[in-house]
Amino acid sequence: MSKKVLIVGGVAGGASAAARLRRLDEEAEIIIFERGEHISYANCGLPYYVSGVINDREALLVSKPEAMRNRFRIDVRIFSEVTRIFPEEKAVEVQESTGKVYRESYDQLILSPGAAPLRPPIAGINDIDALVVRNVTDIDQIKRFIDEQQPKTAAVVGGGFIGLEMAENLHARGVDTTIIEMSDQVMAPLDFEMAAILHEHIFNKGINLILEDGVKSFAKKDNGTLITLQSGGEVQADLTILAIGVKPEIKLAKEAGLTIGELGGIKVNERLQTSDPNIYAVGDVIEVKHLVTGQAALLPLAGPANKQGRIVADVIAGRDSRYKGTQGTAIAKVFDLVAASTGANEKMLKKLGIPHEVLFTHSNSHAGYYPGATRLSIKLVFDKNGRVLGAQAVGAQGVDKRIDDIAGVIRNKGTIYDLQELELAYAPPFSSAKDPVNMAGYVAENIINGDVRMIHWQELSKLKAKDICIIDVRDEEERRAKFIPGSLHIPVNDLRSKLSELPKDKEIVVYCEIGLRGYVAYRILTQHGFTQVRNLCGGWVTYYPAVFG
Ligand SMILES: Cc1cc2nc3c(=O)[nH]c(=O)nc-3n(C[C@H](O)[C@H](O)[C@H](O)COP(=O)(O)OP(=O)(O)OC[C@H]3O[C@@H](n4cnc5c(N)ncnc54)[C@H](O)[C@@H]3O)c2cc1C
Repeated sequence: MSKKVLIVGGVAGGASAAARLRRLDEEAEIIIFERGEHISYANCGLPYYVSGVINDREALLVSKPEAMRNRFRIDVRIFSEVTRIFPEEKAVEVQESTGKVYRESYDQLILSPGAAPLRPPIAGINDIDALVVRNVTDIDQIKRFIDEQQPKTAAVVGGGFIGLEMAENLHARGVDTTIIEMSDQVMAPLDFEMAAILHEHIFNKGINLILEDGVKSFAKKDNGTLITLQSGGEVQADLTILAIGVKPEIKLAKEAGLTIGELGGIKVNERLQTSDPNIYAVGDVIEVKHLVTGQAALLPLAGPANKQGRIVADVIAGRDSRYKGTQGTAIAKVFDLVAASTGANEKMLKKLGIPHEVLFTHSNSHAGYYPGATRLSIKLVFDKNGRVLGAQAVGAQGVDKRIDDIAGVIRNKGTIYDLQELELAYAPPFSSAKDPVNMAGYVAENIINGDVRMIHWQELSKLKAKDICIIDVRDEEERRAKFIPGSLHIPVNDLRSKLSELPKDKEIVVYCEIGLRGYVAYRILTQHGFTQVRNLCGGWVTYYPAVFG
């Protein structure tokens, strides 16, 4: 007997599940219910439609109901909200936008309702026209507002990737844009010092970036909004976008008695089954297992939602498919830079008390002698056995492939030795014979073997220059630009001739631009009897934006 499968939500998880299930089972009756007008739209492309980078609105609509019907014989019902689940009866209640209400029975139900933009109860929030960015209707509204009202100023509340993408695209439309972020950094998946590289860039692009200051209240003023900050500061905006984060849409699941996790997402097993064996859930609405920490996590990303859609279809079709976890691999374009991350970050590991080491490298994106190379900063997080726990990268070019290489190693529970051994495509326009990913593996091994002892920017910034001896081993020209106050200047090539002038009873910290000459200096000093030496990890390039940025 053919089965009847209902799907709530017709975008990333829901549409993937439907198409895969049809490919596996020609007989199943499959119905998608979508509350809005569109299915299978490109959420991730929405911000770029504002500026016209994506010019054709149709391009945002990856698949349409007719196409799903014609190719996959899927019954797609738009403007149809599932308002209740009756688990005992294996049925749902559907409300059409016309007001019509009816019931539909199921053998299996898949929930993929996604996550809704947060609207925290800030004073005045309901009095203003704060717009959010979730679907095509939202972006149509924002685009129409810009086209018709020609706003001069915009405030984007929230410095996550959606907030940054919106700010960039508003700026490209000539709108003077302010980002208001409550924490001390943008892009939470990055650790502070990696985000600090972005802060400078965003600021240099002409965005008014406000950090460590939340919104206290909103008020209507003239034709726009007056935003009062916790600090007492004020921002006047003709257009206000809320991009504070998202919250799983669990109302249906909760009312149906399905188990909800501590983080507020639906709990599922490896087969993506909820606490009711006939109900499955995928995408932004579920809590996943973090692949590195093993902890429950909310990681609202398109890749996992699509993969889960495929797996749930496999399971319903009788295959033994399992979802093993999410590692949170993510990437965003931030003006001329790209920021990406995978696995666990340092903040997360510290919070969980998981021991770890970190390192920073600042390599060229490709061979330095081939024109056009740019700086590629990598932060690698690993444990003392060499297992890679996470990575972050920021740069103008080649960020995506490096993070993807490391993501593959993390997925396979690989080590820093795997990073060293990766044989990656090389010719001068693309990389170096030792790719930045290989280099990160080598530096990690040096740390684990004790070939170098590192000091990190946080610790150095707290030490008093008089208690230690800080040596800047960079060249004259680099030194002239800026340096750590209180440091001596001895270029690495002169170090051997100055050894007798250095104190043996004090700790010595060496630093250079990116950490490589510091490492050479470290090796010279330690092989000449200096026992208390450390190299500033990532050198000046990590230290400067983190401490002075
Ligand atoms: C602006 C933006 C940019 C993004 N960029 C990226 C990116 O670059 N990379 C990345 O990995 N991720 C990105 N994401 C996140 C990604 O889009 C989501 O992780 C993914 O779409 C989640 O899929 P989903 O199926 O769980 O939910 P969604 O794709 O949100 O789909 C859920 C659908 O369910 C419908 N629905 C909800 N409740 C009901 C109901 N009761 N009845 C009927 N229908 C219902 C909703 O209307 C919605 O259309 C972005 C998201 C946004 C909003």
